[in-house]
Amino acid sequence: MSPSVAIVGGGFGGVGAAAMLHREGYEDVTVFEKADRVGGVWQRNTYPGAACDIPSHLYEFSFAPNRWSRRYAPQVEIQAYVENVARHFGVLDKVRTGTEVTRAEWDEGRRLWRLETSGGPHEAEILVTACGQLSVPQTPPIPGLADFEGPAFHTADWDHSVDLAGKRVAVIGTGCSAIQVVPAIQPRVAQVDVYQRSAGWTLPKMDFAYSERAKGLLSRPRLRRLDRAANFLFHEAAALALTRRGPLLKAFGQLGRLQINKAIEDPELRRRVTPTDEYGCKRIMLTDEWYPTLTEPNVELIAERIETVTPGGIRANGVERPVDAIVLATGFASHDFVAPMEIVGADGRNLGEEWAEVPRAYLGSSVPGFPNMFLLYGPNTNGGSGSVVYTLEAGIGHLLAALRELDRSGADRIEVRTEAAAAFDRELRAALAETVWHSGCTSWYVDADGNDPSQWPWLWSQYRRRTATLEPGAYALDAAEPELVEVGATP
Ligand code: NAP
Repeated sequence: MSPSVAIVGGGFGGVGAAAMLHREGYEDVTVFEKADRVGGVWQRNTYPGAACDIPSHLYEFSFAPNRWSRRYAPQVEIQAYVENVARHFGVLDKVRTGTEVTRAEWDEGRRLWRLETSGGPHEAEILVTACGQLSVPQTPPIPGLADFEGPAFHTADWDHSVDLAGKRVAVIGTGCSAIQVVPAIQPRVAQVDVYQRSAGWTLPKMDFAYSERAKGLLSRPRLRRLDRAANFLFHEAAALALTRRGPLLKAFGQLGRLQINKAIEDPELRRRVTPTDEYGCKRIMLTDEWYPTLTEPNVELIAERIETVTPGGIRANGVERPVDAIVLATGFASHDFVAPMEIVGADGRNLGEEWAEVPRAYLGSSVPGFPNMFLLYGPNTNGGSGSVVYTLEAGIGHLLAALRELDRSGADRIEVRTEAAAAFDRELRAALAETVWHSGCTSWYVDADGNDPSQWPWLWSQYRRRTATLEPGAYALDAAEPELVEVGATP
């Protein structure tokens, strides 16, 4: 049996899933992508300075190695990579761009998913969501923002028609996006006001362009694998440090502090950029440019709470600073997962309602009551270190394991058992409580009630191992009763 598969999302997850399905001989695959091209966050985040902060030889599919220009590839190169992978593995022919899936409902009688899309209805036996965790930009509820008279846009919706040269620009937020944008625009704008709500810890990025010789060496399979393994081990060590809060985390913290003190002499600026929370609680930001940029004469770091945006500026702590443009580097609605798509499973169970308290999924992949559905980069599959592409590949491996099991058993329905999902969730929550992410800070990992639908509290090698096969007894497989055919009956 080769089931029909519908994949929602054409980023790394959706393209990777369609490519890996193709490699396994599954061709009845349709990928729905609401944008006009594949790429996901990498086609959307085109802000100046956008680049990866995970080494590119780890931020690629193991089955599709690339010749990268530098250690941390810029956005344009990563976007081209996703498109090349899609082309090479025959995915482009299966993608419906400009098509948004608004609803998916499980049809128990027919054992398939009925999709409502902006391009009309669609049916598939298997539903794969590959919607990403950082795809819905978050506009902060700052008073007056709507009345600002100049251009104001989110980093994920960069308005390239606005020429910032010689302008006074405010950047709100000091997360991973902001620390890339500010150094990129600072040399050509008149002034950058950076509004910081709380500071985050950093680590030197040590980025560099590969020489032709290095590129040549890295194109040799053995050396490339060695480089990837070294990067992977470093990130596993970091994952261990973050989840166990061991001595390595303290050492990283000292490096972060050293980085600040080396770049910034002014004690007041040092104080403002030095976080008060534990190292690693928020996502650690890799940068070589952030602190030196903050010392430039046309940059001001404002660490006071924004009171209001006025038609011509921003007021914080009673001081109004006029600006010509506002950049919102304020992150994403990362806990919405598949939203705004509505998913209705068996017995009319609504995924949004099931997840009202906190999104949960067995191995981040499957949810009881939602048969034949697999989530990629689902709840609790994000890390404080490691490559999302590696995680996606492991998650796709889980989907393939399920499809193989359906094929082997002759079943047409697979659903994770409630007890297996509940046991996994207990194990997960207990482990999360020990991690640095729950040591008390604001971050996109943990919501205001302390719920964490984001983080994986173990090593990534463990995620890969656990998802590679179906744990015995975790899933219920079922074959539909064959329909009764009355031989010779007249219609
Ligand atoms: P983020 O890390 O969530 O940062 C958002 C920033 O906006 C924070 O500084 C936050 O302050 C601030 N903020 C949010 N709401 C605010 C408000 N109402 N008023 C004032 N400030 C507000 O978002 P991001 O920088 O876009 O990064 C998100 C994630 O995307 C990263 O953690 C990373 O995983 C990924 N990313 C990766 C790369 C890469 O190189 N691979 C690049 C960019 C992004 P608080 O800290 O106080 O909440």
